[in-house]
Amino acid sequence: MWRRGFFVGTGRTAVRMMHNISTMMIDAYGRKVNYLRLSVTDRCNLRCRYCMPAEGVPLLPPGEILSYEELFLIARTAVSLGIEKIRVTGGEPLVRKGILGFLSRLAGIPLLRQLVLTTNGLLLEEMAEPLRGAGVQRLNISVDSLDSGNFHRITRRGDLSRVLGGIAAAERAGFPIKLNMVVMRGVNDQEVVDFAALTLDRPYAVRFIEFMPSGTEEGDRRSLVVPGREVLDRIAVRFPFEEVDRGELSGPARDYRIRGAAGTIGVITPVSSHFCGDCNRIRVTASGMARGCLFSREETDLKPLVREDGAPGLEKALLGIVRFKPGKHRFCADDARENPLGMSRVGG
Ligand code: SAM
Repeated sequence: MWRRGFFVGTGRTAVRMMHNISTMMIDAYGRKVNYLRLSVTDRCNLRCRYCMPAEGVPLLPPGEILSYEELFLIARTAVSLGIEKIRVTGGEPLVRKGILGFLSRLAGIPLLRQLVLTTNGLLLEEMAEPLRGAGVQRLNISVDSLDSGNFHRITRRGDLSRVLGGIAAAERAGFPIKLNMVVMRGVNDQEVVDFAALTLDRPYAVRFIEFMPSGTEEGDRRSLVVPGREVLDRIAVRFPFEEVDRGELSGPARDYRIRGAAGTIGVITPVSSHFCGDCNRIRVTASGMARGCLFSREETDLKPLVREDGAPGLEKALLGIVRFKPGKHRFCADDARENPLGMSRVGG
């Protein structure tokens, strides 16, 4: 039985209902959609060159941003339909006041298997321990350079030592560490081997993400893309590695281990070889705009549904997003120039 958006049942009924839940979230291409990326804010304490203009993006008026209560209703409804993993993102999620209380409510949603968070790490030194206490299971930490000058240039304002302190605090708090580096030719690609070397004696998962020309800066930035294959080739010259198995709820990266290393490396290749065939995700922004693909221009506004209809309207809308999830993204750098992707709003 369904009670206030929750599934309540035991024995055979439970198994039958669970089966219905999982088939509801299968899209037109047979993909099981069980992963929600939920942005909680459009604000960020960095201005990464590839993500935002120097002056930042026009911020949404406060009434447009969903309250935690409203975001929670979306999350709980999504889980009741079959979402098993939620990644909280932003902007920078840790700058939103009250985030810890919100995360612990999310962690308490029955049937949610994984609660994870993406952060730039600047506030982790003080927040890693409380995040663990709130029930966050894993962190992805974005760090694009291990050189403090280069880090400051890329982020326009960031202090690398704070991020490194944050990573150390996350390790002490017991988090498995995943580092995401957006690789850009002539900007930080000379550091790829240094990042890979971090995994030699630390159990980190280092992910190299292909830069997506998202249209936030002038110029033809396609020249910045370093294909994932090239990243791996460059590492292979220095360190031999082999492919490792991925977990069921793991993302689109292909993972490898340098021989004898404690950690793993991986590449995420949205540009050179899209992974749409395995895409299991939907996205909701802090203002309640939902989409089935990062690159999709079509969004469904969940705000009026949250504010007026409650769970039944939301269920219908979320199922519609799954039903009409595009089979393949049609990302095109020229389109992005005309119509920027707005990564800081969608949450990457
Ligand atoms: N503030 C958090 C952070 O720094 O991870 C979460 C939001 S950020 C928009 C999420 C992810 O999107 C980051 O890993 C960031 O590097 C990635 N991202 C943003 N713009 C990108 C682009 N143009 N190409 C590739 N990745 C991008």
